[in-house]
Amino acid sequence: MSLANGRPHIAIPGPSVMPDRVLQAMHRPAPDIYDPGLVQIMSSIVPDLKYVAQTDGYVAMYIANGHGIWEASLQNVTDPGDTVLVPATGRFGHGWAETARSIGLTVDVIEHGRQSPIDPERVRAALRADTDHKIKAVLAVHVDTSSSVRSDIAALRKVIDAEAHPALLMVDCIASLGCDRFEMDAWGADVMLAASQKGLMTPPGMGFVFFNERAKARRAEVKSVSFYWDWSNRAEPEMFYMYFAGTAPTHLLYALREALTMIREEGIEAVWERHARLAQMLWTAVEHWGQDGAFRLNIADPAHRSHAVTAAGLGKGQGDRLRAWLTEQAGVTLGIGLGAEDADDPTASGYFRFGHMGHVNAHMMLGVLGAVEAGLTALEIPHRAGGVTAAAQAMAAKP
Ligand SMILES: *Cc1c(COP(=O)(O)O)cnc(C)c1O
Repeated sequence: MSLANGRPHIAIPGPSVMPDRVLQAMHRPAPDIYDPGLVQIMSSIVPDLKYVAQTDGYVAMYIANGHGIWEASLQNVTDPGDTVLVPATGRFGHGWAETARSIGLTVDVIEHGRQSPIDPERVRAALRADTDHKIKAVLAVHVDTSSSVRSDIAALRKVIDAEAHPALLMVDCIASLGCDRFEMDAWGADVMLAASQKGLMTPPGMGFVFFNERAKARRAEVKSVSFYWDWSNRAEPEMFYMYFAGTAPTHLLYALREALTMIREEGIEAVWERHARLAQMLWTAVEHWGQDGAFRLNIADPAHRSHAVTAAGLGKGQGDRLRAWLTEQAGVTLGIGLGAEDADDPTASGYFRFGHMGHVNAHMMLGVLGAVEAGLTALEIPHRAGGVTAAAQAMAAKP
């Protein structure tokens, strides 16, 4: 006997929960790829993506996951041998750095560990030392999904400008777009990356590279870009066939179209606010439980915590026990810890992650928290009882 039967809830940091409306939008036969309806959908998606990203710039769409988009973005603005600066705040910063190395770039990493946001002063020092402007781009991850730390992107723009350094500011928003506030133009990102399966509530398989005029000008100076990765045709297609340099991902487009309609209906400000309030409920519960026992949020300062994903530690071996119990007994699956192999990380043992990106509301969050409290009790993991009540009070309180 298990209480898990019923609708499962996969609360991992991507792929995220898909709304029924999104699932239903895909339930149709294959279209003619020259169908006017499909062409219309493709062109209508562009302004809505720009709305979510808060930009008047360009967007190129790819059939690729986040790893593909890491590569696509770099191919358009660098030549082999160029240098990029990576202020890494977790596994995903290092992942982007590995992609950069694999295509022949020289990568300068500023290691920030797994519990701190990007320090703009360390970026400033690296740019200042780069007197002959070898650094072509700063690669910053807005929310590093492994550590759940959120960095201040506008502060990086200020530093680059203050140093009058020509490096592009490239930002990975794969975890944060449509969850955490992000304003591409106002914050001064030159290039921004996103993927379909997180805040955009669409199945994995599509990636997006947003870019501005500065990045477009840099693209024109790059010696060569493969036909497939080149963003020029994708962002400004002469024929709709060029949007994807081949067959369009038809059903992902139907899904994305519906997901963007849902974001438009709610309004991006309300979407950000919902994520912030739900995250607050989660943090309140964990901080309450942690008053007795080892339960800890990975990021101490709320100002630097993501509203899309939360990494937490629970003491040696206990995180895996709790995750297994939740899946088997409650139908809730939390994300594994990434980077848990690091001995210098205080939360390494028992480290795991809550995904709360996209199609998540208060009863889903309270359901997860109630199941976690039941699991802590059933497994006799030390904690202070009452975390769920504390979260409910946080929900009821006026923001
Ligand atoms: C998920 C994620 C990626 C990788 O995306 P994939 O689609 O798994 O390749 C990269 N960066 C961040 C911040 C992510 O959250």
